[in-house]
Amino acid sequence: MSDGTLTITDRAAALRDPGFCRFHTDSTAVVHWSADHGWSTYSLEPYAPMTMDPGTLVLHYGQSVFEGLKAFRQPDGSAALFRPVDHARRLARSARRLAMAEMPTSVFLDACAHLVSADDSWIPGEPGQGLYLRPLMIATEPELGLRDSRHYRCTFLAYPADPCFGRAFTPISVLTSAGTVRAVRGGVGEAKCSGNYAASLLTRKQANARGYDEVLWLDGVEFRWAEELSGMNVFFVWRDDDERHGVRLTTPPCQGTIMRGVTRDCVIALAGDLGIPVAEEPTPIDAIMSGARSGRLVEMFACGTAAVVVAVGRIADGDDDATIGDGQEGAVTARMRHTLMEIQHGTRPDTHGWLRSVRKDLASVHSSTDRQ
Ligand SMILES: *Cc1c(COP(=O)(O)O)cnc(C)c1O
Repeated sequence: MSDGTLTITDRAAALRDPGFCRFHTDSTAVVHWSADHGWSTYSLEPYAPMTMDPGTLVLHYGQSVFEGLKAFRQPDGSAALFRPVDHARRLARSARRLAMAEMPTSVFLDACAHLVSADDSWIPGEPGQGLYLRPLMIATEPELGLRDSRHYRCTFLAYPADPCFGRAFTPISVLTSAGTVRAVRGGVGEAKCSGNYAASLLTRKQANARGYDEVLWLDGVEFRWAEELSGMNVFFVWRDDDERHGVRLTTPPCQGTIMRGVTRDCVIALAGDLGIPVAEEPTPIDAIMSGARSGRLVEMFACGTAAVVVAVGRIADGDDDATIGDGQEGAVTARMRHTLMEIQHGTRPDTHGWLRSVRKDLASVHSSTDRQ
């Protein structure tokens, strides 16, 4: 981690090999909400540590929600945010579930656009790379009584980033959750709240110790239905000789326990564009394991803003371990990944209107008190 005082030379080095969020940029955008004054406009502030009363609500009761979205360099040299409105809406939905204030989309967009504009020189330009934005909203009222906060702070952080599993998109391996649960209906699984990730870490650590990259979470009632990974949605590619492409895609439905991934939504839309049938359909783990073995499950992939689209080459359920396809990235996964990346980098027409252009001179033109 850098200390926030990177020189221009350091920035060049960070941009050559950014990894996933190893280096933060110089700036942050900060938005406050209070019960008395409502939402503030954003202010751009230097990246710096925060001090906090140890009795602050977020530290004890976990009112903390976040987002992850990216800005990409475009062929004309400008920058564009990818589906920021969808991320703004999800942050508001997550906040609502945790009884936190719901940030208006316009406030979110303003903060993101001005931060990207201020950090323009931090945007890496190679395929797959982008500027990762992490808005983090926390309860900042010092109060030990169990109730919702009367003050929230949202800090928008920015990091030059490679895809989180690297730019080679090497297939990952997954192990099913055994005994532990990520989410149940009516819980907070659909909210991007910090506690979900804390709850997933032990199982993830155990999977890592057994040599698997990620956990494939099963449902919390029957421990049978595939849901998602700790921070990515999943898709299955099935052989289907009746279909024109010979395959069909399925992904678990959003019924309150999995994240409504923006990337998941992109994959569904792109499958439609490419004429590949896709269904939101519950899939039991035994069908996945037997499909991998029989060859009916030809590919599996995970997707999310951080990873983009990454193949799952190997899956295990307890001691039952299977390779999917030949263990390498399959044709459908590759097609989805390339199509999505081309749209993000502006080299394929953005027919869905997913990119939102950011003007480079924004920060100098508009001060934080001068909202348009
Ligand atoms: C963020 C996240 C995803 C992916 O969502 P995107 O909007 O595609 O980035 C999937 N699952 C979980 C649990 C997540 O936290």
